[in-house]
Amino acid sequence: MDNFEWKADNAEETIDFAERIGLLLEAGDVITLEGDLGAGKTTFTKGIAKGLGVTKTVNSPTFTIIKEYKGNLPLYHMDVYRLKNSEEDLGFDEYFEGDGVTVVEWAHLIEDQLPMELLQIQLFYNSTSGRKIVLTPKGSRYMQLCKELFE
Ligand code: ADP
Ligand code: MG
Repeated sequence: MDNFEWKADNAEETIDFAERIGLLLEAGDVITLEGDLGAGKTTFTKGIAKGLGVTKTVNSPTFTIIKEYKGNLPLYHMDVYRLKNSEEDLGFDEYFEGDGVTVVEWAHLIEDQLPMELLQIQLFYNSTSGRKIVLTPKGSRYMQLCKELFE
C-alpha cells in the first residue's frame, strides 16, 4: 500500500485527525498540503499545530508566505500560493532542514524546491463538510509514521 485514506465528516474531525499526526512529528519533518481553495489545508494545519502544542491561533499566512509558531517544536507554516508564476526562492531549505516542523500549503507550486522525503496530504471535497484525506508518504520515515497512525 502506498497511500492511506481517512474520512472527515466536518472540520472538527479534520482537526482531530491532524492533531494525531502533529503528536507524531519530529524536528525536520515536512508535510505538504494540497487541495482546492476551502478544502481545509489551513484547518488541517490548525490540527497539526494543536498536536505540536502550539497555543497561538494559526491563520492563513497567504500574505506573508511563512509564519512561525512556538510549540513543543517550532512550526513553520507556509502558504506558497502567492508564489505562483514566480521564481522567488525564499531559502526554504533552511526551514525544511531546521529544528522544527514545516507545513506547506499549495506545495506543488514550489515542487523543485521540496525535499525528496515528505508526507504529502491531499484534501478532497466529499460534500459540503465532508472531506477525503489522502496521505502519500515519500520515504521510509513517513511510511513508518503512516503505519503508526493507521494501525
Ligand atoms: P484552505 O486552506 O484549503 O483554503 P481552509 O482550511 O482555510 O481551507 O478552509 C476550509 C473551510 O471549510 C473552513 O471554513 C472549515 O471550517 C470548513 N470545513 C467544513 N468541513 C470541513 C472539513 N471536513 N475539513 C476541513 N474544513 C472543513
Ligand atoms: Mg489555506
